[in-house]
Amino acid sequence: MSTDQSDASIPLFDHHCHGVTTADLDRDEFETLITESDWDAPEGTTHFDSQVGFAIRQHCAPVLGLEPFATPDDYLSRRRQLGGVEASRRLLRATGISHYFIETGHRGDEILDPDDMADAADARAFEIVRLERLAEELVLDGCAAADFREAYGRLLDDRLSTAVGVKSIAAYRIGLDFNPERPLAAETDRAVASWLADIASGAPARLADPVIIRNLLWAAVDRACAIQFHIGYGDADVDLYRCTPLLLTEFLRLTRDSGARVMLLHCYPFHREAGYLAQVFPHVYFDVGLAINYTGSRSDEIIAETLELAPFHKILFSSDAFGAAELYHLGALLFRRGLARALDTFSQRDGWPQSECARITEMIGWRNAWRAYRLDTVTSVKPEARDAVAS
Ligand SMILES: [Zn+2]
Repeated sequence: MSTDQSDASIPLFDHHCHGVTTADLDRDEFETLITESDWDAPEGTTHFDSQVGFAIRQHCAPVLGLEPFATPDDYLSRRRQLGGVEASRRLLRATGISHYFIETGHRGDEILDPDDMADAADARAFEIVRLERLAEELVLDGCAAADFREAYGRLLDDRLSTAVGVKSIAAYRIGLDFNPERPLAAETDRAVASWLADIASGAPARLADPVIIRNLLWAAVDRACAIQFHIGYGDADVDLYRCTPLLLTEFLRLTRDSGARVMLLHCYPFHREAGYLAQVFPHVYFDVGLAINYTGSRSDEIIAETLELAPFHKILFSSDAFGAAELYHLGALLFRRGLARALDTFSQRDGWPQSECARITEMIGWRNAWRAYRLDTVTSVKPEARDAVAS
């Protein structure tokens, strides 16, 4: 059976990723980018001995001109020889990703911004605004508690004139078991006053107040945005047991008719729960980014599992790559491969026509993101690009 659905010429919209770093990385710096742990590998071991490490050696080594399964030392010395800029360009340009939706709120000073990312990857790049970071910027700029709600709304409107959506890290800061109701204005004002008092007495401006975060989420709902939520697997900062998307069920009921779309990010190991929510709620979409890279040779099975309950028009592609260009490369390659293999299996087992498999590949690869993010209404998408991609 053909696997031409994995053809890199089919465009992909990476609806959730971060910027790449083009620095010349040494071994330690590189290893910290290929794990979600913030710890070095124990003495005498390496983060390369993992699914993602093997996938880098198998799939990325040839892009840099080496044999598959080059040793980590040979790989990294070749990478340094080419330089971080050139290695990143090669890896990014071979992904076939045509549009990157870049969340800029995490360690933004270490990575390329959307414009530079578009240049490096020879693709289009759009911004996704992190809601919590925007609030932190506002209070660091000296916003008073009484002005916060209005000023936040104005700032969000301004950013959404070019950004294509927002993201919340409520999972990290308060867990997803938050009260889903819109908070009262007075309640929010009191919470902001107390946050500002903490900052004035020396606390970092790290927003972790549930009332304020709920206020930000409802500001996004009121603007009928695409709202991304971190779900499931992430770094050691997250309490994974408070990250199942089922905890958002009541919030999803309350927002069903709002016009907002809810994008559940990564989801692993709760991707089956996410698939259920995507089926029952008309405004819910999801992806298994991040997990694809970190499960490497096992990612086929996880991608196939996303095709169980979820309607095909609700599944999105993301790499959730941050920093290392290898992660965008693998995110795209493993995703194309896993989706093609799953559809081939359905074809062989149940006779799904190849033309229908091709249609589903395009939906999940980019058409769903195009529709769900309403890219036809984004003014920064040039009309000719719109026509080319929407035809
Ligand atoms: Zn992310």
